[in-house]
Amino acid sequence: MSLSGVSATALSLATDVRSGTIKATEVIDAHLAAIAALDGELNAFVHVLDGAAREAAVAVDRRVEAGEDPGPLAGVPVAVKDNLCLRGAPTTCGSRILEGWSPPYSATVLERLVDAGAILVGKTNMDEFAMGSSTETSVYGPTRNPHDLSRVPGGSSGGSAAAVAAGLAPLALGSDTGGSIRQPAAFCGVVGVKPTYGTVSRFGLVAFASSLDQIGPFARNVADAALLFDVIAGHDPLDSTSLDRPLVQVGPCLADGVAGMRVGVLAELVDGVDADVAARVHEAAEALAAAGAIVEELSVPEVRYGLPAYYLIAPAEASSNLSRYDGVRYGLRVEASDVAAMNSATRAAGFGPEVKRRIMLGTYALSAGYYEAYYGQAMKVRTVIVDAFAAAYRGVDVLLGATTPTTAFPIGAKTGDPLSMYLSDVCTIPTNLAGHAAMSVPFGTGAGGLPVGVQVLAPALGELQMFRVASVLEAAAPPTPAPSPPPQGSGGGVR
Ligand code: GLN
Repeated sequence: MSLSGVSATALSLATDVRSGTIKATEVIDAHLAAIAALDGELNAFVHVLDGAAREAAVAVDRRVEAGEDPGPLAGVPVAVKDNLCLRGAPTTCGSRILEGWSPPYSATVLERLVDAGAILVGKTNMDEFAMGSSTETSVYGPTRNPHDLSRVPGGSSGGSAAAVAAGLAPLALGSDTGGSIRQPAAFCGVVGVKPTYGTVSRFGLVAFASSLDQIGPFARNVADAALLFDVIAGHDPLDSTSLDRPLVQVGPCLADGVAGMRVGVLAELVDGVDADVAARVHEAAEALAAAGAIVEELSVPEVRYGLPAYYLIAPAEASSNLSRYDGVRYGLRVEASDVAAMNSATRAAGFGPEVKRRIMLGTYALSAGYYEAYYGQAMKVRTVIVDAFAAAYRGVDVLLGATTPTTAFPIGAKTGDPLSMYLSDVCTIPTNLAGHAAMSVPFGTGAGGLPVGVQVLAPALGELQMFRVASVLEAAAPPTPAPSPPPQGSGGGVR
């Protein structure tokens, strides 16, 4: 018995569906069967879109039969994080406060997926409002790591990472505000990409911290992640932060190699992480040098201020963004004697403890008398970090480091200690503050055979060099083991 569902890549599925070799309906049936067999154990999905997915697959097959171009993702099942609005489908953000709410519109990224022929297979579990690093704060219960069911998949996009790792979908979308794509990708042994701020539309993404949030791909290999990135990236007039300029497609450049590329191994993302993780980063650096890159060690001490600055800026923005959940406009309402009491009773019942903690921290950081000392100071630190990265990128093309300080930790290990949970993102947060691109690539295993992710960081719009480095790392990486069998067994695997 295996915890692996369908192993085919997105590229091969799309090629075969486009050529008529297999039917999109067969592809979706195999994935829905894998979900039915395995998701009871994993809890990666909060909502499976069985009916709509089958209908969409029939439509793709009809286009193929009619000789039309069904798109680059023809028939490819994609799982989407449950903070992406899909018209008419429940969108919960893992929170009770959105209970019963279905958006009247779809996120731009989901429209793009459908236009590219992809099949939306389900909404994935997440930490409540994307606040967390373990997918344990969801009102729908924790998602489990397919490599070890007693461990977390990471978060907050843990459902998407677990679904891809277990073969329930070859591709998934997540959101990354401080590491929520890269950290779960590392924990689950898959590729996770945080694109440059502004390259992927956030229209229809439920906002957590708007100056940091980005949507990005999960995949089991770099080429599939590139395929998905190329479909979702590009200008969108519906998102005022979307970059209005042509973007280069990354897919065609994956085989360009790294000869002559300058790579900096970032000391702050290696020193202090667990020895097994640090060892993989050093091996990754050696692999790049062997492929012709010019590798040097460098230090950007300012990135150490990333975590404290983030935990003022992100909660401040969240406290503002989440003020809209008032019992009037969305989901849950707890009736009370007057409107103010109804607002308060709804929020008290609808939000979980971590979300309440963030709202209180953020409201305090923004309050009159403290604003300059906390939020204002954090914004100055953010500028210091941006400048420090800019200086580093004058000497190198990309930076290399760990994605996470540890491998996946046991479920429950950090739920009682918010600070230790926050530290799980210490290596990923600086990128978000700078608005740059970064991705996690699986690179062998650490203690206990658990996956390790190596992080490739690039300056704004540096996706091309970032993906080229990722491809070389993937080719050099020790194999990531297939997800291990569950302790007490569930349904059978589907190949
Ligand atoms: N774990 C971080 C937090 O809780 C990052 C979350 C995210 O990227 N959405 O804020």
